[in-house]
Amino acid sequence: MRLHPHFRDLLSALNHDILFQIMDELNLSDLVALRRMSSRSDELVSAYLDHKFHKLLATFFADVPTARGLMRNTNAVISGSSALAYVLPANISWSPSDLDLYVPNVEFNHVVAYLEVFEDYTDVTQHGLHNHYSAAVLQVTRLEKGGRTIDVIKSASNSALLPLPFFWMTAVINYLSADYAYVGHPELTFQNYALLHPLHVTHFQTPIPRTIPLVQKYTERAFDIRTRNVEWSHLPAAPRHITRDRLGGCSSTVRFFGDEFGLAVSMHPASAVVHDVVVRQQLTIIWRRGGLPCGLGCLARLSDSTAFVEEAWLA
Ligand SMILES: [Zn+2]
Repeated sequence: MRLHPHFRDLLSALNHDILFQIMDELNLSDLVALRRMSSRSDELVSAYLDHKFHKLLATFFADVPTARGLMRNTNAVISGSSALAYVLPANISWSPSDLDLYVPNVEFNHVVAYLEVFEDYTDVTQHGLHNHYSAAVLQVTRLEKGGRTIDVIKSASNSALLPLPFFWMTAVINYLSADYAYVGHPELTFQNYALLHPLHVTHFQTPIPRTIPLVQKYTERAFDIRTRNVEWSHLPAAPRHITRDRLGGCSSTVRFFGDEFGLAVSMHPASAVVHDVVVRQQLTIIWRRGGLPCGLGCLARLSDSTAFVEEAWLA
């Protein structure tokens, strides 16, 4: 896209408050498009992303720089509704309630101890809390301070990301690390579409009982939640026209954190080279969503549509 000659002047003329208000209307994908226009827009979008992240952390932590440093040093990530709200426009009608902090296996005790000792959180974990999670989660500690709740979630892997692909729907497969925001299914999520994970679907293609309240909650949050891609095809398929594009949400596509389907966005300008958790740890997670073939043109066969998630070392 060619830039209007006055674009740069316009960005300089508007003060930060106005620019940030404009950016509040944009989702993460729009912000990426804006930042690519010039080095000035890259700086402004980075400042906005950093500010938005700081605001989120300040809701839960008295000492934000140290909490962010802890996340960086332990390769912990925020996921769940807080991460989803971060990647959507700021003017959404709902606000996330608590913070879900996913932590590598070996760093779990360290992170919990830090939050108790230095951030004055109290352990209020109730028995059975961890039953809501998949086998990729070993332990959950619920911490509370002044009406704020943090669930610290211990991954079964040295990667905090192992539990994410098991999540009940595609729109929550996102994370915020100390320096990056990641969206697992941008092509669906930014249209407010979401696919249920096959493990959360009955033989009759309806949500399992445990998942029904979640579907209701996120339907109220304007998400259109379905079991297969084909259910969004309102138009009849043209004869002999079969799309063979592989999609990130396809039941047969093998995905990994760092692949071309996900959107990974640095909170820093391009001039600052900062690596995210996967590169720093040389460890990623590969997965297949699984489930029934998506519809006409889908390359999936029942034999290659089993859901799986596993870790993969890069070095
Ligand atoms: Zn497919």
